[in-house]
Amino acid sequence: MLSETIRKYALKNRKDFGKTNPKSIIGKVIADFPDAKKDMKVTMEEASRICEEVNVLSDSDLETELSKYTFVEKKHEKKELELPNAEQGKVVTRFPPEPSGYPHIGHAKASFLDYETAKKYGGKMLLRFDDTNPEKEKPEFVDAIKEGLQWLGIKWDGEETYTSDNMEKFYSYAEKMLENNQAYVCTCTGEQVSKNRELQAECDCRKLSPEEQKSRWKKMLDGGYGVGEAILRYKGDLTSDNTAMRDPSLFRIILFAHYRQGEQFRVWPSYDFAAPIMDSIEGVTHAMRTKEYELRNPLYFAILKDLKLREPILVEFARLSIKNTKVGKRHIRPLVKEGKVEGWNDPRLPTLKGLKRRGILPEAIKKFVLSFGLTKAESEPVWDKLLSENRKLLDPTSPHYFFVPNPIKITVEGAPERTVKMKIYPDKEEVRQYSVKDTFYVPRSEIEGMKEGEIFRLKELYNVKMIENMDEVKVGYMGEEITKGKKLQWGSEPLDCEIWKVGDLFLNGEYNPNSLIKEQGYCEKAVLDLEVGAIVQFERYGFCRLDSKEPLRFIYSC
Ligand code: ATP
Ligand code: MG
Repeated sequence: MLSETIRKYALKNRKDFGKTNPKSIIGKVIADFPDAKKDMKVTMEEASRICEEVNVLSDSDLETELSKYTFVEKKHEKKELELPNAEQGKVVTRFPPEPSGYPHIGHAKASFLDYETAKKYGGKMLLRFDDTNPEKEKPEFVDAIKEGLQWLGIKWDGEETYTSDNMEKFYSYAEKMLENNQAYVCTCTGEQVSKNRELQAECDCRKLSPEEQKSRWKKMLDGGYGVGEAILRYKGDLTSDNTAMRDPSLFRIILFAHYRQGEQFRVWPSYDFAAPIMDSIEGVTHAMRTKEYELRNPLYFAILKDLKLREPILVEFARLSIKNTKVGKRHIRPLVKEGKVEGWNDPRLPTLKGLKRRGILPEAIKKFVLSFGLTKAESEPVWDKLLSENRKLLDPTSPHYFFVPNPIKITVEGAPERTVKMKIYPDKEEVRQYSVKDTFYVPRSEIEGMKEGEIFRLKELYNVKMIENMDEVKVGYMGEEITKGKKLQWGSEPLDCEIWKVGDLFLNGEYNPNSLIKEQGYCEKAVLDLEVGAIVQFERYGFCRLDSKEPLRFIYSC
């Protein structure tokens, strides 16, 4: 029966997402009961009647009713990126970075979730710079964020927007709240405010009439109060168990030139005030944010309700943290300032610029961050997971070369002179070639301790036998036949090359001063034809990205 089918999916939808509506269930209803399509008007009317009933059921009634039904889960469906109450073609998400630093892998997680979920539902993702903190923000960071997203392959819909372009709007919403007795100007000291919050006590400012509040607000805007002398606070609930509701601040005075708005404003909205308004007026249907904001959800909705603005759906996900790394801007900024790293693009940092410099591909970052799904489950992965994704992607595409770490010179007695051609890619014809005589450089660690008579092979060349392993190393030519022994990469010319190997920037929570190891060695000459940024596979060594040609430097990737 139609109504039975509708009820079944309405119950499930309410259970999964807290609320149900006809549009979210109609697809499933039709799939189960194709006749429902015959008269859509009747079906939709029936569906909205049933959804209303289901929405007001108590949780226990909901459970009892639901237990009567069984649901077949579609195995292949990727559950993690599912949004509650999402309508195909109508979903709007947004990525709202603050331009106060370079984007990092946490931003990659948030923006990929925003982007991929929007794409999944045929909707769009907006890019909004959340820039109402004049002290920290800079155009440099706006550019870096846009560049980072482009590098990741994330496309936002239309022009990016800026929260700070809406200041007049925020002021008029603030006035509306003052008129409706929903906010007040508080001139208590910060200390008093915290104390009252703790005591759940209201201050005298809260009791003033809306007229007095409005004149205080005007004074705030006109410069009658200095920094810290007045804030606009939300009239929340001082007795609430949720501290976020204890009259949070909505506007504060900041005397600092804004990178985009200049000096025209001295009163700036807080995140709590600006974020819900922006989400609402920009048409965002699903606003995702990290789990630690969950306590602030009631405030988000209370502000919108007071202002009679449309309420988006909030979706939380877990903040990404990585073992022995500090992901947040607030942790990275001081490292840059104190010179503990080279800059925002230091390859030890989890910034996108740092990762790029380390030869991590955007595709690997995408796989890594999306592997956690749109869930609130916390984890603290190690870099290995990202690096192994990266290796999988690089292996089939990277050109092969030789790098000889900490080289030692060897001379080959009876060496046949020749021009050796070596494939750059295992499965392509392209080669690099060298004329070689009797002198080579090989990794010292492989030679040390080697006994007289031991046989090894110079890769792509021939076998040699150890004759004398003293200060001077002498070996003898032993023929061409490929055997099972050690095969060493070599260099025929001493081309100096440095490889930076990055380790954990933090150990036991402390900055690790030995996190960057610089290894010296010789590199084969063909790498000089590469462009900076090329990622190669140094045989028997690993994947490295060309960071500079003068001096010649690579960064070890994975
Ligand atoms: P930071 O600690 O780096 O300053 P933030 O949250 O203040 O982080 P914003 O630029 O305001 O940085 O963040 C933009 C978006 O990216 C937000 O939606 C935020 O939740 C998300 N985001 C930031 N860091 C992470 C992270 N580590 N994991 C997942 N999402 C993150
Ligand atoms: Mg922030």
